Amino acid sequence: MSATLSGATVVTSLDPVRVVQGDVRVEDGRITAVGGASVGGTSAGTDGRRDCSGCLVVPGNVCTHTHLYSALARGMPYALAPPTSFVEILQRVWWRLDRALDDEGVRASALVGGMEALLSGTTTLVDHHASPNAIDGSLDVIEESLRTLGVRSVLCYETSDRDGPASARAGVLENRRFLGRVRNESLSLARGMVGAHASFTLSDETLAACTEAAGEFGVGLHVHAAEDAADERDAVARCGHRVAARLARAGALHEHTLLAHGVHLDDEEIGLVRAARSSIAHNARSNMNNSIGRARLRALGERVSLGTDGIGSDMFEESRSAYFRLREDDGGTGGDWPLQRLAEGAHLAGRAFGEPLLGALQPGAPADLVVLDYAAPTPVHDGSFAGHWVFGLSARVVRDVMVAGEWVVIDRRLTHVDQQQLAAEAMGQAARLWRRLDEIGPHEFEPEGGR
Ligand SMILES: [Zn+2]
Repeated sequence: MSATLSGATVVTSLDPVRVVQGDVRVEDGRITAVGGASVGGTSAGTDGRRDCSGCLVVPGNVCTHTHLYSALARGMPYALAPPTSFVEILQRVWWRLDRALDDEGVRASALVGGMEALLSGTTTLVDHHASPNAIDGSLDVIEESLRTLGVRSVLCYETSDRDGPASARAGVLENRRFLGRVRNESLSLARGMVGAHASFTLSDETLAACTEAAGEFGVGLHVHAAEDAADERDAVARCGHRVAARLARAGALHEHTLLAHGVHLDDEEIGLVRAARSSIAHNARSNMNNSIGRARLRALGERVSLGTDGIGSDMFEESRSAYFRLREDDGGTGGDWPLQRLAEGAHLAGRAFGEPLLGALQPGAPADLVVLDYAAPTPVHDGSFAGHWVFGLSARVVRDVMVAGEWVVIDRRLTHVDQQQLAAEAMGQAARLWRRLDEIGPHEFEPEGGR
């Protein structure tokens, strides 16, 4: 398939910001030309031409930490005593929801979550999945759902000992099985990592099994790390080391590792993480929502990208919230900061796909892009784009979305599926899921060192 996006203002790079005027030419999944300069292999003609005059074309957003399995949790009833700590939030909310999921619930969650991602201009999801009563094959269900929609993804299963050793073994096996599939079938839109919940629900044996699997497949662990102080207390009580040191000693801290949150990492741990060149997914809204504290973003450095932790997939909103939260403490933070974090997210996805140009709109790059119908009230250029991003743009102006050269959203509608039907089916699945959830009590797992 080939396409020409004509007459747009094109943001070819977020870090550093580069803005040019002209056409974007796409052939066989890749960008072949940007700007007025040249056209790729074949003549553009009128076929596949999409008028983008008056629009901004930007790289597709990447969410580097999400939980599609929570897509049907929005507004769900809650009748237990209100949680008073992060661990209680897990015990009383998320570790009940994940146990209520079956394959149908996983499918509905992935479809509706993936739909919302595309409609908000997010083209890649780095997902962390848990469904302890439906582990085997769950990553296939998600992969198939996202493939149907046309979402790019990096998937893993959240291995944990909280539901017992058999469940932990099944988690490791599911990661291995899916990584084997990725290797053998060369899936075009999906890659894998080895998922692990968090240090405080992982035995030494399970952590070792995860690390071994990651090594065999040449990928990293995707794991919550130091999200709450309870994770650090547990690691110290369990093995006498803090979380990052425990991961490092297990061989789990390296350049392919993705740590979610990292809020409570101390100076020494930040030193370990940075020396290992591991990535951090910062989830500003989730951190605020769970009252867990503030990540030390300046200290954490360059390999910080942005995730939603399951609060939708709207990276306009996430990046803006992260920016304002950081500005509250550090007024010297520039508007380029959220753009750098989003660019880093694309680099992370690019490493997973072996596509170093992912996230740039330049010849040779995968054609993952978003057309914004944005009536800019002031000029848009290299120096002003960050201001437009943090003060003007939002998912509301997403008009069209392309992933790997295919239009997946046109005029705010999904192209591959009937989104009204999909939403109606999700509604039915949500009712079913909520009924099942009602019968599941708080999880009894407790970290060492207290809640
Ligand atoms: Zn998370």
